[in-house]
Amino acid sequence: AIMLIGRLEQFAGFLSTLFFQTQSLEDFFTVLDQRPAIVDAADAIALPRVRGEVVFDKVSFGYDPVQPALHELSFRAAPGDTIALVGPTGAGKSTALSLLYRAYDPSGGIVTIDGHDIRSVTLDSLRQNIGVVFQDPGMFYRSILDNLRVGKPDAGLEDIEKAVAAAEAAAFIARKPEGLETLVAERGRSLSGGERQRLAIARAMLKDAPILVLDEATSALDNATEARIQRALDALTRGRTTFVIAHRLSTVRNADLILVLDQGRLVEQGRFDELIRRGGLFARLAEDGKFAPDAHEQEPR
Ligand code: ADP
Repeated sequence: AIMLIGRLEQFAGFLSTLFFQTQSLEDFFTVLDQRPAIVDAADAIALPRVRGEVVFDKVSFGYDPVQPALHELSFRAAPGDTIALVGPTGAGKSTALSLLYRAYDPSGGIVTIDGHDIRSVTLDSLRQNIGVVFQDPGMFYRSILDNLRVGKPDAGLEDIEKAVAAAEAAAFIARKPEGLETLVAERGRSLSGGERQRLAIARAMLKDAPILVLDEATSALDNATEARIQRALDALTRGRTTFVIAHRLSTVRNADLILVLDQGRLVEQGRFDELIRRGGLFARLAEDGKFAPDAHEQEPR
């Protein structure tokens, strides 16, 4: 999961790479990865802004051919739904989300967004429709302002201030020596974890994509910060189709659909009460209070 999240971060950084350096997608991958680049189909169309219906139809994928990481995953998310992914380490949660983003293409099955096979649309237009917020979001050695504009280079100051306020980031930014113009140290080291998360949320607000991919924070934050981040996330996810690797009880309780994965298979799906009543894997995870183990709790593989 750590590697995948790192990879998704690379994608999140991709738009900004374009923004700051104008590099081709192919170059980008050649540098970062030996895998063949995922490129646009010759007849790819631009995906317009979507409503956010996401369908996985028997989607399979394996990092190596003998050991599938996902086996025939099927589900449907209606526009605006929150989908919680839960399950033990290695269950395939991050892999499923990386297929939505087209970090990889499935070896079988189809992923559609608003009825479009995502392989038939341009990568750029696909990723314009998807915002991502991870636990430890990457930052660039640039001003806070530039870091916020990554998803929307032409964002005006008024929009930026709105996003910053909704992400509960206004107060800490105001305390920085040069406010929005303050330089973020390399790898974001001049910001606390909670500050980086709120900037990432503000960044996603600005990008205003109809689909969101979240890895819910579990990092050791004080309660006040955690409450602020939760409020910011609630504001962000409203009205967007949201996929969240869920750690918190409140998230799974409120989810429109919970996908319970185990060893690459969807073993249960439904809402909280239904799944508790079933008394299966989800009920056991709920009893332990561990819907998705933390990276640092995982056993080395
Ligand atoms: P989860 O997010 O539920 O912890 P993952 O999607 O990260 O699960 O992993 C699913 C399976 O794929 C696991 O067996 C894991 O070891 C494997 N896997 C994940 N990422 C990679 C990768 N980059 N290369 C090879 N195998 C991977």
